[in-house]
Amino acid sequence: MSYLTLKDINKIYPNGYHAVHNFNMEIEKGEFIVFVGPSGCGKSTTLRMIAGLEDISNGEFLINGKRANELGPREREIAMVFQSYALYPQMTVYDNIAFGLTLQGVDEDVIEQKVKNTARILGLTDYLDRLPRALSGGQRQRVAIGRAIIRKVGVFLMDEPLSNLDAKQRVTMRSEIAQIHRETGATTIYVTHDQTEAMTLADRIVVMKEGYVQQIGTPYELYFQPANVFVAGFIGEPPMNFVKGTVKEGKLDFGGNAIDLKMKLGDKTAQYEGKEVVFGFRPESIELGKVEGAYQMEAMVELTEMLGDNTNIYITAGEEKAILKVDPHDTPAIDEKITFSVPVENVYVFDGETELVIK
Ligand code: ADP
Repeated sequence: MSYLTLKDINKIYPNGYHAVHNFNMEIEKGEFIVFVGPSGCGKSTTLRMIAGLEDISNGEFLINGKRANELGPREREIAMVFQSYALYPQMTVYDNIAFGLTLQGVDEDVIEQKVKNTARILGLTDYLDRLPRALSGGQRQRVAIGRAIIRKVGVFLMDEPLSNLDAKQRVTMRSEIAQIHRETGATTIYVTHDQTEAMTLADRIVVMKEGYVQQIGTPYELYFQPANVFVAGFIGEPPMNFVKGTVKEGKLDFGGNAIDLKMKLGDKTAQYEGKEVVFGFRPESIELGKVEGAYQMEAMVELTEMLGDNTNIYITAGEEKAILKVDPHDTPAIDEKITFSVPVENVYVFDGETELVIK
């Protein structure tokens, strides 16, 4: 039996807006789950239904196999960290962290021991006497997390906890959250629109779009086995390149390139004759020049961006545009005509109508 079960969960807001459709998932104890997707896709709504802050319109939420739909937030043993980490400005870090326990009337000695332990996990030991205004954004966010993790809860929910931090603080805090998770082992559900955060933090990622779950999988699975065009394009930076076209005699033509789909799809190619498919490959899966047995394509270089560890080259082939990631030492010149190769296993073909990957 799983720890948390979401069974056909739906959210229809009072105004009739159907924000979440048939969300199904089993979550094991200790897992770090990330809900990711563009703004408005239903991540926070789902998280709030798990927290008990929002009614579940349809479906069942189970904790340890028991229906929890009707339980209030407190009874669910769940703690939540929000985007805006409103700390009490007139209270020290110590008092901010201790606040929940003080309200519950917990013994002072017990509180002290718990606050100290929490501060140690969060690297806040030296800041316990400070007021929030004397802390950096990252430190304030850690205090907010401390307030949540000091209570022994089963599940820890975080809604875009890093969105108020600058880019550098986000990277630091990201690794700190991973570290906190390792230390506490608490089951965590984390909402973000940032695919890098999702990839670096998650045991498993749930990709959502317009209220529907697109795919659930490990970062590895989402990157190497995307279920559809959306997931393939959402995970990875720069995103996967796509070429859409109609299959003619088993081939996809663009800008003078004839992609032989048989190499990838084998006998299935015939099923797609005359139909649209989407051909995809990642910027980083290419090699300049001709590689035997791989897909070989020609294109013109429009622009190059030297980034240090690699160069992004922007290419065109006919109407199509793509980005290739190459070694900076191999950077071609602008307006140069290049040939590049993509190994067959690094190519994805999607059904043009359903946008599902063709296996
Ligand atoms: P995300 O967290 O992925 O950005 P949300 O879960 O916040 O998305 O919102 C999902 C959709 O539900 C959005 O289109 C949003 O406008 C809508 N929504 C959120 N809250 C309400 C509400 N109280 N009433 C009606 N629609 C809402």
